[in-house]
Amino acid sequence: MSIKVSNLTKYYGNFLAVDDISFETKKGEILGFLGPNGAGKTTTMKIITTYLPPTSGTVQVEGMDVEEKSLEVRRKIGYLPEINPLYFDMSPAEYLDYVAALDGVPKENIKKRRDEMIRVCGLESVKGQDIGTLSKGFKQRVGLAQAMINNPEVLILDEPTSGLDPNQIIEIRNLIKKLGREKTVVLSTHILPEVQATCNRVIIINKGKIVADGTPEELQAKSKGESIVTLEVKNNCDKNSLSGSLKEIRNVNKVEFVKDTGDSFIFNIYGDKGADLREVISTRVMQQKTTLLSMQTKQSSLEDIFRELTR
Ligand code: ADP
Repeated sequence: MSIKVSNLTKYYGNFLAVDDISFETKKGEILGFLGPNGAGKTTTMKIITTYLPPTSGTVQVEGMDVEEKSLEVRRKIGYLPEINPLYFDMSPAEYLDYVAALDGVPKENIKKRRDEMIRVCGLESVKGQDIGTLSKGFKQRVGLAQAMINNPEVLILDEPTSGLDPNQIIEIRNLIKKLGREKTVVLSTHILPEVQATCNRVIIINKGKIVADGTPEELQAKSKGESIVTLEVKNNCDKNSLSGSLKEIRNVNKVEFVKDTGDSFIFNIYGDKGADLREVISTRVMQQKTTLLSMQTKQSSLEDIFRELTR
């Protein structure tokens, strides 16, 4: 295992921010730490990365205790903090050279590592420009590059896509997924789609406690949510007759007419959890001699469980 957290507890004064949490991670795992703001995600990450001492409990990284072996642990870990501490008057290349030396990369390897990180993180076009003049997306890539410069086994990324635009978010997520094949990645987020898009394991944390732990699919399976299919058909049919026909499908609990867009009808079809209704719905649409324009199954159930657990 690469990270082992045992009965970790952290008080700030009298305030209990992390309440007796335990978990282990494996290599090749991209673990999403999901929870509302204030849940204790950053605090846990700061303890794993040796920047804060625990009140009680232990954390081991690659078998080393974070309090007893903090310097060694830092060398095994890449950390992207929530507030990315960059030197704005350095270029990405200069900054990466500086961090590499600090992180103990042997002198003769620094240039090679820096150039590799510039390539992996897509910084080629801005490598000589002052960091202060870069867009938020590029700054975040510089942050990721510095976190990985010493080729760490474990990457801890605190809200890695916060403040990025949708295109940048997709790029950073793809980069994380690529890294996650060889490393252990723990990332924190307060948004659910982040976890669904990137992680193969989720720990949901609320008020300092772990309230769920599993793959996104496992958590989804545990939730009580129904499957919801949104159907759009051409409006050249009798909507009541189509609606009646859809209602007769086995495992369908409810059919809701959403709207007439002018040239199409939209319905929501609520079915039993796990039921795949798409094929039988398309057959019913054909029987009504109309045209199927689109059909989408909503993945609302992980959202349901997240809301339920963090209420
Ligand atoms: P998250 O990352 O999930 O948003 P944090 O770990 O940052 O949560 O914070 C957990 C709780 O601890 C919050 O209620 C926060 O206000 C509190 N907290 C965080 N840092 C400190 C601190 N240095 N002193 C006092 N309280 C803090």
